[in-house]
Amino acid sequence: MIPAAFITGTSAGIGRAIAENLAAQGYRLILNARRTDKIEALATSLKENHGTECLLLPFDVRDRKAVEVAIESLPDDWKKIDVLVNNAGLAMGLSSIEEGNVDDWEVMIDTNIKGLLYVTRNVLPLMIAAGKGHIVNIGSIAGKESYANGNVYCSTKTAVDALNRSMRIDLAKYPIKVSAIHPGAVETEFSIVRFKGDEDRASKVYLGFENLVASDVAEAVWFILSRPTHVNINDLIIMPTAQPMAGVIHRKG
Ligand code: NAP
Repeated sequence: MIPAAFITGTSAGIGRAIAENLAAQGYRLILNARRTDKIEALATSLKENHGTECLLLPFDVRDRKAVEVAIESLPDDWKKIDVLVNNAGLAMGLSSIEEGNVDDWEVMIDTNIKGLLYVTRNVLPLMIAAGKGHIVNIGSIAGKESYANGNVYCSTKTAVDALNRSMRIDLAKYPIKVSAIHPGAVETEFSIVRFKGDEDRASKVYLGFENLVASDVAEAVWFILSRPTHVNINDLIIMPTAQPMAGVIHRKG
């Protein structure tokens, strides 16, 4: 049976790179994001390049009912999910806590924490029934160290880090593997989303140093997934060489 991976947030950036990497490794893919056109285009290119079978599941991870319905309605042959990558996430805004936009806070909390929980809770019964599975949570260095003005985003990724540890404990008995990757700066649509479409401001984030690219994280995901059955990578931090800590970047010029 060809293994199946369910990846959230595959319309851009890290999620799309993970889909491309796992397609090349021979996986079938369940592709999620809100932008249906983007995941349709990805599925077409994966089919052409790797012969990958894809099932599109375009829902908003914040919509609890939509998550339940989408996963419940999976055809039987797609209900055997070997890998879940909880990748969908975002930062919105960058401001000191007393000036924070509460609407932005809600979006980050609902997406990065509650969305991850909704998807995980609905996929887990399928993995438990199969007696195996592997969940990879995409956290962030922001969940390991806070940085100036990152307050709520850092908190949501700290929650992902804590949930990752808790899932690891709770799911070992099935046995389901649980891993997290915490990247530093990766150039994707992340900063464009954070700065609400201001591409000029977003591009400045990556000036003067060599940031990570999405495929660096995708390769780390594959490293985690390709360990032998008895090996679980609990936690992995991946940083640009020029970024030793969340809030420290050595820029040239
Ligand atoms: P990105 O290029 O903006 O991609 C984010 C993806 O998440 C998109 O596919 C987006 O798709 C999806 N998404 C956002 N909200 C969603 C929702 N409510 N429901 C479903 N899908 C949703 O950013 P990225 O850098 O690849 O981010 C991926 C993950 O890596 C995030 O969890 C982020 O926090 C984490 N991360 C990023 C960095 C970085 O520097 N880039 C560093 C550390 C961790 P739609 O908009 O089409 O829904």
